[in-house]
Amino acid sequence: MTTPLLAIRGLRAAYGKIEALKGVDLDIAQGEIVALIGANGAGKSTLMMTIFGKPRAKAGRIAFDGQDITEVPTHHIARLRIAQSPEGRRIFPRMSVAENLQMGADATETSEADRAAGLERVLTLFPRLKERLTQRGGTLSGGEQQMLAIGRALMSRPRLLLLDEPSLGLAPLIARQIFEAIRTLNKQDGLTVLIVEQNANHALRLAHRGYVMVNGLITLSGSGAELLQRPEVRAAYLEGG
Ligand code: ATP
Repeated sequence: MTTPLLAIRGLRAAYGKIEALKGVDLDIAQGEIVALIGANGAGKSTLMMTIFGKPRAKAGRIAFDGQDITEVPTHHIARLRIAQSPEGRRIFPRMSVAENLQMGADATETSEADRAAGLERVLTLFPRLKERLTQRGGTLSGGEQQMLAIGRALMSRPRLLLLDEPSLGLAPLIARQIFEAIRTLNKQDGLTVLIVEQNANHALRLAHRGYVMVNGLITLSGSGAELLQRPEVRAAYLEGG
């Protein structure tokens, strides 16, 4: 097997006495969309944040493109071209849409030409942002803010994009547009994606593979289609959810 783009082994992380990750193994191959699903408090966000070194891993190893990044400081992770769109979006509300996008490009050393191409790509993907470039981020709708948060992450021309709950709080139609954009990025640009979602149905349909996390541990993994068929997944995350 070729080296995965991201390889996580035996990862442990804690907040004081609360053990949020208890020994997680997870792989993402180049060009894959991987979904991480699980109930509230399972440790999904912590896994994403630990890749960025906050919190620091207590044990285990994170390798990106074969390089051990477990101890790499948070502010250096973006330079490796790993980008995230965190839960709750966290755009800059007083800055314009254009300035917010610029901030994403600032995270890595990109040439002027790369920036222009990146901006063009984001605006093609999310035409709504094009019409709102001078508008303040804080005045955008929830769905538009999510597009902006993803757009900002894309401006750093990532090799790996981490998305934490991109559909949270969005109307179904807007959520579908966001998932469609992720699919396009993967298909057309070959972007590798890790997506954390409460909306297991959407996420597993989108993803090539998925992992189920329960209480700080991976309990199940398989192709998106396989997981959608598993009775324990259906019972816990799909039916009535
Ligand atoms: P959700 O879907 O609700 O965001 P999650 O699966 O992403 O849940 P985490 O946010 O990673 O779960 O939380 C894992 C555990 O760590 C929970 O028990 C949570 O209470 C705890 N936790 C998370 N962040 C902190 C923090 N900053 N300080 C202390 N405990 C935390």
